[in-house]
Parts: sequence; structure tokens; C-alpha cells
Amino acid sequence: MSMLQIINIPVFKLKGYTFITINFNLKEKMKVAVFSSKPYDQKFFERYNQNYDHELAFFDTNLNVQTTNLTRDFDTVCVFVNDKLDQKVIKKLSENKVKHIALRCAGFNNVDLEAAKEYNIKVTRVPAYSPQAVAEHALSLILTLNRKTHKAYNRIKEGNFSLNGLMGFGLKDKTVGVIGTGKIGIAFCKIMLGLGCKVIAYDVQPQEELIKLGVDYLPLDELYKNADIISLHCPLVPATKHIINDESVSKMKDHVMIINTSRGALIHTEDVIKNLKEKKIGYLGIDVYEQEEEIFFEDRSEQIIEDDTLIRLISFPNVLITSHQAFLTQEALTEIAQTVLQNIEDFKQGKQLKNQVEAG
Ligand code: NAD
Repeated sequence: MSMLQIINIPVFKLKGYTFITINFNLKEKMKVAVFSSKPYDQKFFERYNQNYDHELAFFDTNLNVQTTNLTRDFDTVCVFVNDKLDQKVIKKLSENKVKHIALRCAGFNNVDLEAAKEYNIKVTRVPAYSPQAVAEHALSLILTLNRKTHKAYNRIKEGNFSLNGLMGFGLKDKTVGVIGTGKIGIAFCKIMLGLGCKVIAYDVQPQEELIKLGVDYLPLDELYKNADIISLHCPLVPATKHIINDESVSKMKDHVMIINTSRGALIHTEDVIKNLKEKKIGYLGIDVYEQEEEIFFEDRSEQIIEDDTLIRLISFPNVLITSHQAFLTQEALTEIAQTVLQNIEDFKQGKQLKNQVEAG
């Protein structure tokens, strides 16, 4: 390999001569509008952008029909889970000459891929950012709900050293049902196997690696019937929307624990509230909520929350809600920033986009 190739300057050889190919457009910086950005996004993006030199503008607002005017003069919009890129927004992006949507998350259910295709806007994502981060957060929801450490913390702060009401159950030998065994599901299965649980799973594409480790793939109804804890790690697609509903819960064990770190709409919230009231569901741990766009990621402590369904959920002593924070580790933020910036660089250089998502 020549020195030029080592420093990443494209070269080609013809009849023994080496030619350098320079694309002058490459000198222009990519203008990137980063939506729904928080101080931690800015910190990690600015740190790793030193290796790329894209022109980044950070907006704390969501990207939606009302805010598309902000995208004028930008080549790329960088968006997160609660930016809604429907047909109307994508049409506006196209009118504003945006050519690339760089998701800084794995899921892409919030982007109308058909519309992106129609308007010739490329969509890239971060397929994996520390699956371990989300798997470990699912475990933290389980342990907190079970051993009630959140209650113990508050009690001790108030000088209450009583143990009444703090009894949990042992995880060893309990049966954990995992729906969706992709990158996060695999990491989660391994953690639970390590704790001595029996792990059963359902996925449209079972993983040989997990079968070898002793995970049993079962039909969904069998999983519902046998699991003490059910954790959702599948994407939100038509087949999985409201997969946890009155009917599926009726097939589960009494006092089952349900954990959702994937997407809010996997759960039919009203049905779950009914089953919490009837004590069929014993514990619910959620990092995601179907109507989270209007609420999560912001400090609303001085506001009146108008979402009565969420307030009902918060009121249960056996429900633990976190605000879509499962991904939030230093390792994951590093991986997100590096992958998004590289996706933008690949787009700029006209390279094949290895993290592209497309309709069809
Ligand atoms: P992945 O694509 O690696 O795995 C998804 C798995 O679900 C695959 O094995 C797939 O075969 C399976 N699946 C697809 N359709 C299914 C169905 N109908 N029934 C059962 N299984 C089905 O994705 P991943 O990286 O493991 O992420 C899983 C989900 O976690 C993402 O879709 C995203 O919604 C969510 N997520 C949440 C956070 C967070 O911070 N809370 C962060 C990252 C990802």
C-alpha cells in the first residue's frame, strides 16, 4: 500500500504511473443541523468532530412540521427518537435541499422511508451503540423493582430504617422470557443466564449462539405461560405494535414482571393499567412510553402534566419509569457520535452508505 493510500488520499494506477484523484467538493464542509440536541450530545459530537470538521449547528427543538424552516441551507439533519419525520416533514426537507437524514439512534420507526425514497433523501442510522448499555438498564429496572432500592434510598434519607414492604424475590432459577434477540436481546440473555435464570425467547430469527448457551426458543404463547419476567427487545413494527395487551397478558403468570426498554407502542398502555389494577401484572419497568414525544427528555417539574395515562402509571408503587435513558452511557455516546459523523463523511464522499436504511 502506498503512503498516499495510508493517509486516505484516493489513488489509481495506470501504466505504472500513480494518479491522485481529488474531488474538490470534498473541501466544502458538510452543514449539519442537529435536532433535539442536549448538552451531552453537543459535548460528544464536538469532541469527535475534530476528526471530521463538519459544520454542526445544534438545535434543542424537535424536528417537526413547525421547525423545518430551520433546515434551510443544511445538507444533513441529525435526528433522534422523538423527531417525527413524516411525509410532510420530508417534503419540506427536500424543498430546503436537505439530502441526508442521519439518525443518531438504531430504531427508524419515526421516519417515513417511502417518502425519503420518493424525495431521494438518504437515511442512515447507528445500528448498534453499546447494546450492553440498554441490556444493563433493563437489568437495573428488574433489580430496582424487585429489591425496591428506590424506596430504600428515600426511606434512609428520612431516617426510616424499617424493612417492612421491601421484600423481593431471588432471580436464580426464575424464568425470563425475552422477546426479540437481536444485539440488545443477546446481551440481555447473557446477563440473565449469568444470574442463574432460565432464559426462554421468541424471535422471528432465532440466534444459534443463544441456543448453544441454553436459551430455549418457544412460541409466544408458551413464553407468556412460563415466564416470571418478560423483557421486550424487538423493534416497533406492525407485527409488534401493542404486543403486550389485555389478551397477551391474560396468558401470562399472575404477578408477572414486564420490562420495556424498546419502544413505547409495544405496550397497550390502557390494557396494562387495567391489569396492574387487577394485580395480574406484578411489576412494570418502562424506559419508553407510547406518548413520550411530548414529555420525555425535558424538565417538567414546574408544569402540570396533562397526560392522565402517564400520571396513572406513575401513581402505582410497582411501576418504575425512566425517561428513555437506557442508552445513556459514555460508551454509547462515543459510539453514536463516531458513527453518525462517519455516516455523514461517507455521504459527503459519495461512498456506499453501510448504515443506510431504505424502504422495501
Ligand atoms: P436488532 O435489530 O439487533 O434486534 C431486533 C430483534 O428483533 C431481531 O433479532 C429481530 O429478528 C427481532 N424481531 C423483529 N421482528 C420481530 C417480531 N415480530 N417478533 C419478535 N422479534 C422480532 O435491534 P437491537 O439493537 O437489539 O434493538 C432493539 C430495539 O431496542 C430497537 O428496535 C429500539 O427500538 C430499542 N432501543 C432502545 C434504546 C433505549 O435507549 N431505550 C436504545 C437502543 C435501541
